[in-house]
Amino acid sequence: MHNVALQALGLDWVYVPFEVAPENAGAAVESIRALGLIGVNVTVPLKELVLPYLDAIDDAAAQIGSVNTIHHENGRLTGYSTDGAGFLQSLESAGQAVSGREVYVLGAGGSARAVAWAMASRGSRCRIANRTQAKSEALAASINQVYPGKASAALWGAETEPFDLLVNTTTLGMQPHIGERPMLPPGAFSDKPFVCDLIYAPAQTRLLASAEAAGCRTMNGVGMLVYQGAISLSLWTGRPLSEMPTAAMEQAVWAGLSNP
Ligand code: NAP
Repeated sequence: MHNVALQALGLDWVYVPFEVAPENAGAAVESIRALGLIGVNVTVPLKELVLPYLDAIDDAAAQIGSVNTIHHENGRLTGYSTDGAGFLQSLESAGQAVSGREVYVLGAGGSARAVAWAMASRGSRCRIANRTQAKSEALAASINQVYPGKASAALWGAETEPFDLLVNTTTLGMQPHIGERPMLPPGAFSDKPFVCDLIYAPAQTRLLASAEAAGCRTMNGVGMLVYQGAISLSLWTGRPLSEMPTAAMEQAVWAGLSNP
């Protein structure tokens, strides 16, 4: 996805994977400066471990306590979290509003934090249900400190107020949980919410299949994947998001998924 984008942008850059052991997080971040890299993405479990080695982080990263993007400018390293903004962009590109929504978020891990903070920042209200309830309560409490009344913890699988957007951020539905589905509140699909699953492999999870069978419109995680990457590229290149070749990036993702 990234190399297709770099080529389309006419940049003589290359995007390569590095496998970094958690105990090497600090050394890996220092090497960005030493090697003169423009930037990196980081994934689990490095998203939190790299924080102490950065010079600055953006608001989204501070709110959710992790980064997925580092930008290097003249020896200074800034961390960003583009997952939440990527999710918002993917919703908008599916013709969905991001403001004023009643959202039911399944999960309270890293991606749930990104989604719930991003939706609350646009004035939507999130009810967060997680298997481990203490985590959904902690997430709702932290959001409410900044956006009062915009988040609450819901009981996993229990009756809840109506919602018009359902987002699965749990790993239920992907390897090794293919064929599984998170616990839903009773009548979850009766108001025909727009149903999102952040999972992109498989392209259609059991949750999305059930939602479609119940007449709901759905979206998988490919759009979020593409847009969080496009936002990172926009940060590294200093060019606007609208110039990022998201259609070509999405095509590259689908090609990779069908031929892993
Ligand atoms: P994470 O921080 O590890 O959180 C995992 C979540 O799944 C937690 O809420 C956890 O609940 C829940 N969970 C795990 N196993 C469960 C089970 N057996 N029953 C019920 N709940 C269970 O992971 P993450 O980083 O948020 O990623 C979660 C998913 O989002 C992954 O599928 C990932 O691929 C996807 N994702 C997609 C994108 C994208 O761009 N499309 C970006 C980021 C993530 P507990 O708290 O109870 O353990």
